[in-house]
Amino acid sequence: MSGISRIIDATWQKRKSLPLSVRMAAGWAKRKISPHWLWESKEFQDYFDFLQKSQWWSLDDLKAYQLEQLQELVKFSYENVPYYKRTFKEKKIHPSDIKSLEDIQLLPLLTKDDIRDHAEELIPTGIDPSTLRVWVTGGTSGKPLKVYQDLFHSCMIEEAFSLRQRLWSGYKQYDRKVTLTRDPNKRTRTCWDYNSTEHEIILSSFDMTEKNMFKYVDLIHKFKPKIMIGYPSTLEIFARFLKRNELPLPPLQGVFSGSEALFPGQRVIIEDAYGCKMFSSYGMSERVADATECEQHNGYHLSMEYGVFELLDKNSEPVIKPDVSGIVVGTGFHNNVMPLIRYQMFDLGVYSGEKCACGRQAPIIKAFKGRVREYFVGKSGKLMTLQLIWAGRHPVWSKIREMQFVQERKGEVLAKIISAPKYSQEEITRELREEIGKILTEDEFKFEFEFVDQMPLTHRGKLNFLDQRIPLNFEDIADAGY
Ligand SMILES: [Zn+2]
Repeated sequence: MSGISRIIDATWQKRKSLPLSVRMAAGWAKRKISPHWLWESKEFQDYFDFLQKSQWWSLDDLKAYQLEQLQELVKFSYENVPYYKRTFKEKKIHPSDIKSLEDIQLLPLLTKDDIRDHAEELIPTGIDPSTLRVWVTGGTSGKPLKVYQDLFHSCMIEEAFSLRQRLWSGYKQYDRKVTLTRDPNKRTRTCWDYNSTEHEIILSSFDMTEKNMFKYVDLIHKFKPKIMIGYPSTLEIFARFLKRNELPLPPLQGVFSGSEALFPGQRVIIEDAYGCKMFSSYGMSERVADATECEQHNGYHLSMEYGVFELLDKNSEPVIKPDVSGIVVGTGFHNNVMPLIRYQMFDLGVYSGEKCACGRQAPIIKAFKGRVREYFVGKSGKLMTLQLIWAGRHPVWSKIREMQFVQERKGEVLAKIISAPKYSQEEITRELREEIGKILTEDEFKFEFEFVDQMPLTHRGKLNFLDQRIPLNFEDIADAGY
């Protein structure tokens, strides 16, 4: 690094040590002078205006829009994407066969392994992969797979759908928000940062120590955000800390969570600690489906402008009845640099038969019943959903700061624990063994407990509550009656 760039770098880093009030004032001035790179772009504003209107469309109009988008996507993929050109021809499918939304079932399913094995073939001819953003995400048995996206376009789409949902809580664009999802500053290892462009405080989900969480509470009181955003796992760790220390937060209009399945028990703990309703959402880094909870909190409205959402049974037949689980299959409309058509997720969903009082007609998913990996496997092969653990309201949970289950063999589970201050390991182990034993009984499960100082987080700062290393597939779950 040259002398000048070292000085610039040091000055740039120094701004982070200024008091929050000074940084907020500078941020206000910055926002007045330089328009937000995404929010103020015409492309974003036009698309967002469209979404604001389309949310009130009739179901027929939404379906007509979907059919148009699907036909366009299939035609484009057939003409430009080597993988689809090949597989559609093998199956003797032509874009003109797609005459209704139901005709999507003529198209072959795309699995995680298909993406892993044919990533480059899924990119349209003439596009150089080195110019694209790459998301590396987990495939079957943990083998990573690459998903290519156009940076500006994918940010624009994600942000537009997220903003639409945030507005349902009464939040307005540029209102203050606090995000508890990532590492704000890898280089300086500070546990928080202020993002002046978006008027946002970022709290590190990688550094949720007791000491830092007291700092987080202090910052939230000073900043007075309208909303909080996080993963269910990180929001829950902070919620437990707030309850344990009897620390209230200033009034919030909503807590927004995504990227992980939200367990019903987690919702109770989080809403209680934050003193407001949760707005959960369903999405994935492959970006083939999106569903968001509205202000009525009746389940997840499908974002029909985002893509075609399907639920399939174990024979790949469509599930259309309410209250019947199906595996999620999504076709995203917005990734023209790696179109994913009928991409099969590891998630289960259940339709609700109800209409929502909010007036939006997009169908509702009553629940995402957990991901296929979120099951314990008993000695006999019996599956027990992780959600059962969350039904537990025993006081022992308030004595634990963080916890992760690891399963490598049938019937054997290791529980890694970071205890909250003041509680002994013996006390926690005894109570936890008793509590878990009521659900995951001794004849099927043997538990080991290990107390640790740090939990392994994903590269995005999430804590997987269950690290299930036994390969499971949808057939196992369907046979278990879920
Ligand atoms: Zn609604």
